[in-house]
Amino acid sequence: MTETRPTLSVVIPVFNEEETIPELDRRLRAFLGELGESWEVVFVDDGSRDGSARLLQALAEQEPRYKLISFGRNFGHQIAITAGMDRAEGEAVVVMDADLQDPPEVVREMLARWRQGYDVVYAVRKRRLGETWFKRLSALIFYRLFRALLGFDVVLDAGDFRLMSRPVVLTLRSLRERHRFIRGLVGWIGFRQASVTYTRQERFAGVTKYPLRKMLGFAFDGITSFSAFPLRVATWLGALAALLAFGVGAWALYVKLEGTSAVPGWTTIMILVALGSSAQLLVVGILGAYVGRIYEEVQRRPLYTVAREINFAAGEAPRPPSPPGLSAAAGGTSEGKTT
Ligand code: UDP
Ligand code: MG
Repeated sequence: MTETRPTLSVVIPVFNEEETIPELDRRLRAFLGELGESWEVVFVDDGSRDGSARLLQALAEQEPRYKLISFGRNFGHQIAITAGMDRAEGEAVVVMDADLQDPPEVVREMLARWRQGYDVVYAVRKRRLGETWFKRLSALIFYRLFRALLGFDVVLDAGDFRLMSRPVVLTLRSLRERHRFIRGLVGWIGFRQASVTYTRQERFAGVTKYPLRKMLGFAFDGITSFSAFPLRVATWLGALAALLAFGVGAWALYVKLEGTSAVPGWTTIMILVALGSSAQLLVVGILGAYVGRIYEEVQRRPLYTVAREINFAAGEAPRPPSPPGLSAAAGGTSEGKTT
């Protein structure tokens, strides 16, 4: 490390946000300009297919404190945040969405809490503007389910808008699992945590980059990376099916021995076959999900590929303290695996 660290790093994942970037830049400059702290902004272009990369690059050429990492392709929101945190130098790091749903002004309050000695400051959504009832309801159910399944505390109704102290960021860098559910990881590592509340704004422009499919995948990642509960559900289900089968079997035997059976139970067979095979498929599916994750972890691919970096100190590419072979970023191409 040559120069001194900035006090504040703002990490912003960007995926196809060209309509918002000029306004984002304006709001950031206005806010950071009068904050009275040293700062940097780490933009992570998550393989945008619109003009976002070009816009960010132009901004970074004007402002050396704007740093830019461009991924080789779209790796997803959680990985983009990870990359930003891998490279953020600040004493405090704030993760923020690019769409201005997380108002930069809340950061001032977060910094105040950090100065009081907290290591993680969550921004809890007091209200959500402009989001569908479905999104709100699914988030409500999900966070409660998640908390019920885990052994540790997660802050309810907080997204990824949060401040982390440098020790927390360094600790997070050492957690390199592929299916990342960062709000869970932050809960898992502990440290002193506090929260501030805010009203989640409407998206400034564009549409959500989290369609239902991605949201469900995200929820599934969240649960499976912190809990083996679905595996136990499989066991119970199997036990239940076995019990049922045993009961029906005893009954069938009784009917046969009694000699009153007319047409031997076609219905029963159908029900049993359906029951048994569906239970088995379900269990195999759940097993498969975990086995798949094991496979992806043993492949030890880097979490993301970097096509280009701007405004980072030359020759210095801090690697997270992780086992050999798990480097944070590597060049080259990647295969078309989706997360
Ligand atoms: N994002 C990203 N990669 C993706 C999807 C989203 O970097 O694959 C970014 C996006 O540009 C935004 C943030 O992650 O800055 C949150 O996404 P979005 O606002 O679409 O999610 P929502 O607020 O609707 O949950
Ligand atoms: Mg958003």
